[in-house]
Amino acid sequence: MRAVVYDQFTAEPEVRDVADPVPSDAGVVVRVETTGLCRSDAHGWLGHDDGIALPHVPGHELVGRIHAVGPAVQRFRVGDRVTVPFVCACGRCAQCLAGNGQVCPNQTQPGFTHWGSYAELVALHDADVNLIPVPESLDAGAAALLIPVPESLDAGAAALLGCRFATAFRGLVHRAGLRSGERLLVVGCGGVGLSAAMIGVALGAEVIAVDIDASALARAASIGVTHTIDSSGLDEAAVLTRIAEAAPAGVQVSVEALGRESTMRLSLLALAPMGRQVQIGLFSSEPTLPLPRIISQELSLHGSHGMPASDYSELLDLVASGALRPQDLIEHRIGLDEAPAALVALASGDRSTGVTVIDVA
Ligand SMILES: [Zn+2]
Ligand SMILES: [Zn+2]
Repeated sequence: MRAVVYDQFTAEPEVRDVADPVPSDAGVVVRVETTGLCRSDAHGWLGHDDGIALPHVPGHELVGRIHAVGPAVQRFRVGDRVTVPFVCACGRCAQCLAGNGQVCPNQTQPGFTHWGSYAELVALHDADVNLIPVPESLDAGAAALLIPVPESLDAGAAALLGCRFATAFRGLVHRAGLRSGERLLVVGCGGVGLSAAMIGVALGAEVIAVDIDASALARAASIGVTHTIDSSGLDEAAVLTRIAEAAPAGVQVSVEALGRESTMRLSLLALAPMGRQVQIGLFSSEPTLPLPRIISQELSLHGSHGMPASDYSELLDLVASGALRPQDLIEHRIGLDEAPAALVALASGDRSTGVTVIDVA
């Protein structure tokens, strides 16, 4: 198969022919249709993830069709169209049995713990636990009997469900308990930040977005964000003043989607008393927290690490209803040959391109 491979961290990735993967006993091999270009792939290439063994193939936001199944797989067959959470759970440990597969200690992650989906084929483990069927078309009779599902779900949109939308959705809904009518602050309008903003709008929150990039803020406005704040050249106090002007009644929930100490502080300091922060941005070193403020204002800080496959129906329902349109965030569709340069550009901090997906097939 053809795949994007890197032999060393920060060394130029290249597209080359490598051996086809074979399914594990309870796993499958999927022929990739489309895969997302995500900031965590860039973190991996930069060497920030100690689970990666070299040489490596990145990619964890994928949709595709099953190409081969292991002998122990029961629920899926060759030809099924599927996606997966980026954290694939084991399904057997205490966390998994409690419904918390996103923190399974035996988890596998395509594109991190093993080769990922910047490739024609990708192996996925514990398929019965982790695969999520992606509807392609449903006849009207069947549709009337079932929950509404999209007539056809764009492959790019489906690919984004695996990481960005799932992480943002779980963080906002299952961790912070965002409610309609609350004010939601999104700090950082890259792919996951825009996903959080779009989910906030769909849930009826009043969304305020902060970024230093005018084009990122224009994208936020285009998906229904009512207040956008350009923080370039402003110090922390000035940005907090602008946020307070936009939300006189205070911010109840904030999302930090960049992984920088300064924006993590900003996101926390903007919260009203009892506010809840969702921390999604990944850090390359350990930041210092404004703990006195967290204590005195009784703020809470929630991590979000994807979402178990068993919780996806709520998210898919929002997509099916048309309230959430992941495909609207996609700015560029590229082929596998263009993926190495796009990954390097993302890692170098290029934020001008919006969300990019790689159409493999
Ligand atoms: Zn487990
Ligand atoms: Zn991702």
